[in-house]
Amino acid sequence: MSAAQTPIPATLIPGDGIGPEITDAALSVLDALGAPFQWDTQVAGLAGVKAAGDPLPQATLDSIDRTRLALKGPLETPSGGGYRSSNVRLREKYKLYANLRPAKTLVPGGRFDNIDLVLCRENNEGLYMGYEHYIPIDGDPHAVAIATGVNTRQGSKNILKFAFDYAVANGRKKVTVVHKANIMKALTGIFLETAQQMYKDEYAGKFEFNDVIIDACAMKLVMNPWQFDLLVTTNLFGDILSDEISGLVGGLGMTPGANIGEHAAIFEAVHGSAPDIAGKGIANPTALLLASAMMLDHVKRTDLADRLRQTISDVLNKDNVRTGDLGGSASTDQYAKALVARLRG
Ligand code: NAD
Repeated sequence: MSAAQTPIPATLIPGDGIGPEITDAALSVLDALGAPFQWDTQVAGLAGVKAAGDPLPQATLDSIDRTRLALKGPLETPSGGGYRSSNVRLREKYKLYANLRPAKTLVPGGRFDNIDLVLCRENNEGLYMGYEHYIPIDGDPHAVAIATGVNTRQGSKNILKFAFDYAVANGRKKVTVVHKANIMKALTGIFLETAQQMYKDEYAGKFEFNDVIIDACAMKLVMNPWQFDLLVTTNLFGDILSDEISGLVGGLGMTPGANIGEHAAIFEAVHGSAPDIAGKGIANPTALLLASAMMLDHVKRTDLADRLRQTISDVLNKDNVRTGDLGGSASTDQYAKALVARLRG
């Protein structure tokens, strides 16, 4: 086996709800692709609480400390008990400041066709950080709720540099900064102002550049999504817009995400644990498979990533094997088996 083919150590967190089902499917497909990763399986989320009394057990962190690379299923934050989201904790601990979420049409003929959008979301700052508290008044413990958002110049620069460099490296024609600087003048104004300055100083002419207010952006995305190419935005707006752009390409079953920092990268589906369909064997594992393809790109196995993406497209469009969310009747397992059959050819 050549050095390029030596399996790469990586942490695997199957996650909660549909997580284990879609992870099993992804593992069987990756095995058929030549088993490019050597997995160290760990738990987090509800499974972490059950196994180790902690949604982010030390053993899981030790594993990521070692591998710096993970594929993660969706995690539920246990309600009560004062737990913070394991996803937010992971992003903080490994300074995974860039959340890259592409949305591309894989099944033609939907409500929107030929969608090819990339969303770059700031992942560590803003209103999403969960700095919140209540002020009790007159016996009502929740009389006033307060949330604090923090955006920094450096944090804005980090994600903007990531997005602008990504646009140049991947031939994206246009970058749109999404903000609410007309109202949240400081909190999101700093992001817009930093973007404008960086574009002028370092990136002018390398791609088209504009900005749009978040509410208008949400409307424009459903009126004419083709006017956008790469969107870059702050944490909470990015969270919302990534679900919206998933809807343009067939739903949450179709969109992957990468959380990237200088020293680690964690790949996942955009969707959550889907408790409404967990255990039924009908979840669509495509988003997690596309996240695996992003992970292969990240470790420079673009050959395998491209083969995986092509196989997914062939199974969906030539074999017409699709899960229920895409209007098909295949189970998670049947879909995975169709992918494996094509890969083993
Ligand atoms: P969700 O994304 O789990 O589900 C929203 C809807 O999309 C549901 O109807 C679900 O059935 C459907 N759906 C999602 N993924 C699907 C798939 N692969 N195939 C077919 N249908 C799919 O959102 P939710 O219900 O708001 O959240 C459930 C839990 O997941 C919450 O505890 C939330 O905190 C957590 N969550 C985790 C992550 C993460 O770990 N990255 C992301 C989002 C939500």
